[in-house]
Amino acid sequence: LFAAAADAGGAGPFAPGSRVGVLLPLPLGGLYDYRVPPSERAGVVAGQVVEVPLGKRREIGVVWGAGTGDVPEAKVKDLVRAFPAPPLPDVTRRFVDWVAAYTLGAPGAVLRMAVSVPQALEEARPLTVYGLRDPADPPDLERMGLKATRARLAVLRAAAELPPLPAAELAREAGVSDGVVRSLAEAGVLVPSLVQSQLMPDRPDPEHPGPDLSGLQADVAEDLRRRVRAHEFSVALLEGVTGSGKTEVYFEAVAEALRQGRQVLVLVPEISLTGQWLARFRRRFGAAPLEWHSELTAARRRDTWRAVAEGRAAVVVGARSALFLPYPDLGLIVVDEEHEQAFKQEEGVLYHARDMAVVRGQLGSIPVVLASATPSLETVLNAEAGRYDRLHLPVRHAGAEMPAMDVVDMRRFPPEKGDWGRSWLAPTVVEAVTQTLEKGEQVLLFLNRRGYAPLTLCRTCGYRIQCPNCTAWLVEHRLVKRLVCHHCGHSAPLPKECPSCGAEDTLAACGPGVERLAEEVQGRWPQARSVVVASDTLGGPSAVAAMMERIAAHEVDLLIGTQVLAKGHHFPELTLVAVVDSDLGLSGGDLRAAERTWQLLTQVAGRAGRGEKPGRVMLQTYQPDHPVLHALATGDAESFLEAETEGRRAASMPPFGRLAALIVSGEDEAAVDSTCRALAAAAPRDPAVEVLGPAPAPLALLRGRHRRRFLVKTPRGMRIQPVMRGWLTKVRVPHSVRVQVDVDPYSF
Ligand code: ADP
Ligand code: ZN
Repeated sequence: LFAAAADAGGAGPFAPGSRVGVLLPLPLGGLYDYRVPPSERAGVVAGQVVEVPLGKRREIGVVWGAGTGDVPEAKVKDLVRAFPAPPLPDVTRRFVDWVAAYTLGAPGAVLRMAVSVPQALEEARPLTVYGLRDPADPPDLERMGLKATRARLAVLRAAAELPPLPAAELAREAGVSDGVVRSLAEAGVLVPSLVQSQLMPDRPDPEHPGPDLSGLQADVAEDLRRRVRAHEFSVALLEGVTGSGKTEVYFEAVAEALRQGRQVLVLVPEISLTGQWLARFRRRFGAAPLEWHSELTAARRRDTWRAVAEGRAAVVVGARSALFLPYPDLGLIVVDEEHEQAFKQEEGVLYHARDMAVVRGQLGSIPVVLASATPSLETVLNAEAGRYDRLHLPVRHAGAEMPAMDVVDMRRFPPEKGDWGRSWLAPTVVEAVTQTLEKGEQVLLFLNRRGYAPLTLCRTCGYRIQCPNCTAWLVEHRLVKRLVCHHCGHSAPLPKECPSCGAEDTLAACGPGVERLAEEVQGRWPQARSVVVASDTLGGPSAVAAMMERIAAHEVDLLIGTQVLAKGHHFPELTLVAVVDSDLGLSGGDLRAAERTWQLLTQVAGRAGRGEKPGRVMLQTYQPDHPVLHALATGDAESFLEAETEGRRAASMPPFGRLAALIVSGEDEAAVDSTCRALAAAAPRDPAVEVLGPAPAPLALLRGRHRRRFLVKTPRGMRIQPVMRGWLTKVRVPHSVRVQVDVDPYSF
């Protein structure tokens, strides 16, 4: 309905005196009507960013189309002004509508991700740039009475390919002196225009030399280049073991888009971990891409937004929300590590950035590349069904071999009675570490658990110290001498006596975190230079980058790390990876647990032996027969994925059925429960729709809010959104309770 209203409105321009429907980037429903004031003599167009009065405040909003006519003429207010920023492209507006309709989020909440930069709209010191009136139809110099010199033709060629640039930069791109550009401007061949962004990023240069690709790599790169040239929607799954050159290969697709003068978006799961990636990008293209993520300063945000909107940001690398930037001419989207959970946004608008990237590609008629060594089941099945094309890089570059995999059955090494974990490492692992260090090579001990110990228990009464706000144990962080909740951040000093029975000196740390493992390492290998690498010990992106450089330069012998060390990094001297607790992700009722653990451990294992020296991986487990461990040990990913697929098919779980979760939460437990009863009574009656719950949500208490969950399953061919919408309209939800729809929940 909403999209239809916008379409019917047309694009304008809307002359002074006419009404426009404005979408505000707030979680409100629908469009608000405003009148175009006489001061906007040229009128406004759809997509234009405007300032409007709302109650006593002023808000920014975006013209979505003609007014809705829902408000009597006398009540319609004038909008305050239109900003001089470029209007949001039509495709961005359609994307916002699409995402809102699919996720059942408020369109304004989605729009907020596209215009989260009010400062970007203010007039900055404008800059004069030069371009052609119509790049598709370059002017005929002779007919304009000018000699077609080689220098002038070079400028015309550059101007036809590139967005408008300042005179000096256009001259540099064309390889001529500034004077040539200026004379063409004076003759009216080049037209000046003003842009607002102060950010004039260096253009990545597609012809900057890259590595020589192997035959197989070159074939895949050519396939991707063809897609970029075709400028049509397609999805390619670029699959290959870690180290096979996926990044180098998709860089060739990026280069092709740059040659076409189009913009490129590379989505990455965690921007703070892209230091090495950025360095490689600079090496390949001689310039840096623009970064987009939540930690940018306001000024940087503003400039980046403007540079994207004005077409001068050639390549953007960013986290999820970079999808919503107003690219006027996007030519390629790459989703790196497409299987990563981090692409699912779990707050505000609940969307999966990989899936929405495919939608954005479809709306913009552009190719999408999904890269991974361990693609998600959904993506693999899409490829098998022929919806995506599968491109394979089966071997590591330069003949580097995949590491040897050992499964270490921990049941053979029972801890002594009463010993609260003297060692977290099996004797075989200890021996392998010692040998590796003696050879002067690096070791990674992988344990995906921050802090010292995940549980603190009273040995007198059995009390376990819990977070007061969440269904979770507090995790001891010994470095800062505190107990911390990893869900809400609650933290308290470590008590001297048991909070329950009052006994003294009876609290015991149970199980290992990376800090505790570090203690054992210092005891066993005091001469080794060791370091703990976890998200809470690292600090900002530059600290991360510095640490990764230290590791790559072999200033560290032994790494103790969580998942921040699992992906992307290339450490040539790292030859032994030991996974301390391979079973960690396997417990819990989540259907995705096995797949996720398999992906994570494959990624970690991929860190070993990426240089000249062969690598070895040791997986400590109490479940050596688990299908995940079996798949890792044998390298038979195929059978594992087949079994996973069958499990999902048998349960009609995604992607074989559609799933949505309804999370009901609030501080008042009674109100939450009565809302759940009302929802259960009004649940859809359609026999094709299965409703499970209400049940306690995976974190039944989170940040002081009680949480219940319904799961709704429909057949694949059925749209789940109308089912959910219909259900919700039947129930009155009290103000103290929040009901959130999560279409395609990540955990189920
Ligand atoms: P993936 O993304 O599949 O893990 P990368 O693209 O990161 O693989 O490549 C792994 C390593 O091998 C990188 O250091 C990369 O620079 C190098 N590499 C890959 N292909 C080539 C090539 N054709 N020539 C030189 N180095 C290469
Ligand atoms: Zn908590």
